[in-house]
Amino acid sequence: MAKLGPGRVTKRGPRFATRAKPAAAHRSAAVAPSNAARPLLAWYRRYRRDLPWRESGDPYRVWVSEIMLQQTQVERVREYFTRFMERFPDVAALAAAPERDVLKAWEGLGYYRRARQLHAAAKAVVAEWGGAFPRTAAELRTLPGIGRYTAGAIASIAFGQPEPILEANSRRVFARLVGHAEPVGGAGDEPLWEVAAEFVPRRNAGLFNQAVMDLGAMVCTVTQPRCENCPLAGACVARATGRVEEIPVLPRQRAVRQIRETALVLERGSRVVVERRQAGEWWEGLWDFPRAVKGEARARGDRLLGTVVYSVTHHRITCRVVARTLGETGSAGPRRRLVTTAALARLAMTAPGRRIADLLARG
Ligand code: SF4
Repeated sequence: MAKLGPGRVTKRGPRFATRAKPAAAHRSAAVAPSNAARPLLAWYRRYRRDLPWRESGDPYRVWVSEIMLQQTQVERVREYFTRFMERFPDVAALAAAPERDVLKAWEGLGYYRRARQLHAAAKAVVAEWGGAFPRTAAELRTLPGIGRYTAGAIASIAFGQPEPILEANSRRVFARLVGHAEPVGGAGDEPLWEVAAEFVPRRNAGLFNQAVMDLGAMVCTVTQPRCENCPLAGACVARATGRVEEIPVLPRQRAVRQIRETALVLERGSRVVVERRQAGEWWEGLWDFPRAVKGEARARGDRLLGTVVYSVTHHRITCRVVARTLGETGSAGPRRRLVTTAALARLAMTAPGRRIADLLARG
């Protein structure tokens, strides 16, 4: 097994020299980060994932892909990213687009606030930065929706700045590498940001950051990491101490709250009522079918279309969907609109709203 420390020889992978200064309190052992880049970059050149937002180094493409990757898995992002780039090929095109088009392109990715912030940031880049992205992490963080991670990703990948990043994959790699056995997430990530900052090299910072993320996604996986294929195995504290499965220590999950509701497909001929989600509601600005309020859940003549189950944050919602004929009066109301069923495809809808529309289309 690989061991750390002066005079020990590893069977596999590089061995990082121990630091002369005392180890930081959050680590079981300290390693010299400067030795990590070379083997990791060699591994990355050989095994890196082929992703459509790589290669160009265009900050716009890096930014959009990173925001999308915060929403969903890489394979899904490939498809969304390609479509998004066709529709909004550069930051000026995104800034000039109406919000409804941006939300429509985002439909299905969830967390629409991020799409709105993306749009607002594009406008700010055009209005305040002359259409050219700022180059430092500090400046990037002044833009709407760009936090510490996204700023570090853009600054390092697009502009070569030696900025650290920490997201789910890199967090796991760094935590295992240094044997960080404290709960991670939120303020608990702070020591790992320090680790990431120590490890990121002055040259090739963008490649290094992408390599760490790929290593986390492909080798240092959540379950059954393939340590025998890891270019950093010789210096990994978690591996050396047999704690790979225990690290990272995740914060306790909130209990899932079960909710039941009824969605109403209010029909008048070939038209149905849709309702726009308001500020302070989930999916603000998107369209959905009205939900029954107290006393409205059942009525004579209702036709059950099916059930949709969906999750939002720690809520799991079971939604009964019923079709009901809408009288000549009592239609829509200020936040509602009567639209043809054909027009539903063109609306930016919430995820459950889209599934209800699909149920309706199937009859
Ligand atoms: S040796 Fe294993 S646990 Fe350590 S960084 Fe590599 S894959 Fe992760």
